Amino acid sequence: MTVLEIVTLPDKVLRQKTRPVTRFDADLQQLIDDMIETMRVAPGVGLAAPQIGQSLSLAVIETLPKVDEEDNEIEGSRDLYVIANPEIVWESPKQVDGIEGCLSIPGYVGEVARAEAVRVRAQDRHGKKIKLRVNGWTARIFQHEIDHLNGVLYIDKLTAPENFWTDEAFSALMADDEDEATAVPEL
Ligand code: ZN
Repeated sequence: MTVLEIVTLPDKVLRQKTRPVTRFDADLQQLIDDMIETMRVAPGVGLAAPQIGQSLSLAVIETLPKVDEEDNEIEGSRDLYVIANPEIVWESPKQVDGIEGCLSIPGYVGEVARAEAVRVRAQDRHGKKIKLRVNGWTARIFQHEIDHLNGVLYIDKLTAPENFWTDEAFSALMADDEDEATAVPEL
C-alpha cells in the first residue's frame, strides 16, 4: 500500500463536483487500499478521493474507537466504510453543532451544524448497492465526506463566520474548560 499525498486548499480539485465510479476493477481496489492507508497515517477519520487529487465519487471512513473506563481504545471498535457514488437520501430534522477539522485545510477547525442522523445509499468497493443509517459522529463524518464529493468544504457551512479558529486558538479556548476534549478529528 502507498501513502498518497493529501491535497490542500487552494487546489481546484477540492472545488469540483466528482465524476461517478463506473469501473470496480483492480485499479480501483488499489486506490481504495491506498486511501485507507493514507487516512490512517494522516491520521484522519475520513478521506474523500478529491483530497488525494482524484475527482471521483469515492470516500473511505473509519470511525473513532470506543474507549473503556480508563480511556483505552477497545480493540476492533472502529468501523471502516468504503462508499462509492454515495447519496444522502434522508436527514434527521434534528441538527447538532460540532467542531470539525479537515486534512485539506490543515491548522484550522470550525463549528458546523450537521444532521444528527442520515440515511445513505451507495455502492461498496465491489459495486454492490448498499444502504446505511448512521448517527452521531459517524453521521457527521459521512456528511463531511459526501460534501467533499460535491466540491463543498466545511468552511462553507460554519455556524457563524467567527466560529473558525486556528488549532492553537481553539486549544487555548478549550483550556478554560477542563472537561472538554481538545483533539478534533480530521476528516
Ligand atoms: Zn475534509
